[in-house]
Amino acid sequence: MKVQLSDRLQMIANLVPKKVHLLDIGSDHAYLPIALIKEKKIDFAVAGEVVKGPYESALSNVYHHRLQSHIAVRLADGFDALGSSDEVDCVTICGMGGRLIVEILEKGKEKLVNVDCLILQPNNCEDDVRAWLSANHFMICIETIVQDKGKFYEIIKAQKGTMHLSERQLRFGPYLLQEHSAIFYEKWRLECTKLEKALNRVPLDKSKERQQLVKRIKMIKEVLE
Ligand code: SAM
Repeated sequence: MKVQLSDRLQMIANLVPKKVHLLDIGSDHAYLPIALIKEKKIDFAVAGEVVKGPYESALSNVYHHRLQSHIAVRLADGFDALGSSDEVDCVTICGMGGRLIVEILEKGKEKLVNVDCLILQPNNCEDDVRAWLSANHFMICIETIVQDKGKFYEIIKAQKGTMHLSERQLRFGPYLLQEHSAIFYEKWRLECTKLEKALNRVPLDKSKERQQLVKRIKMIKEVLE
């Protein structure tokens, strides 16, 4: 039985290289590893989940699909899910805030020595994620935006290497900025409208808050021009 992924998870699955050993951190239902194994793109994954309820749900889905010999489901915080013999070379951390993704990467960074590929999908603060990659000898190789149930999600794939990003590239993504697709335009047009509404609600005497919003709006308008 094929697993039907959401458009967001399908886009992430498409970016996972063939034959890797995958660690999926925050694998609440284990949908991503299950789908990848079922389509025979990979044959081993670790599904790591820190909360008991979602961990049990991942475990039960893996049992339901009889994939226990291909997917190790572990109740663990971030990279603590990794075992010494897993030989993981690709890590996905998706569907959570950008700052939480950075926290997980920072805590587990000594376990990244043999990892060639990171696929990250922050729900916000994408600039923090890009800054962490740049400071930790990873370079972005693919970026994409997907719209799923009315929300926009940026997906970042990185490999070992060096990159230097400007403030604008950190915020908008070096490739997304270059590509300037219709979906990119729509995401930032809506964000700009949201920020302008927020600015109208900030009292005139809160000048620091207003200045920050004005700066963010200006940057978006420059990019959309
Ligand atoms: N990755 C899936 C996706 O993209 O659809 C699930 C996203 S779900 C919203 C985020 C999951 O990450 C939650 O189940 C949460 O418990 C888990 N999580 C948060 N912090 C974690 C950590 N430090 N280690 C492992 N899992 C974590």
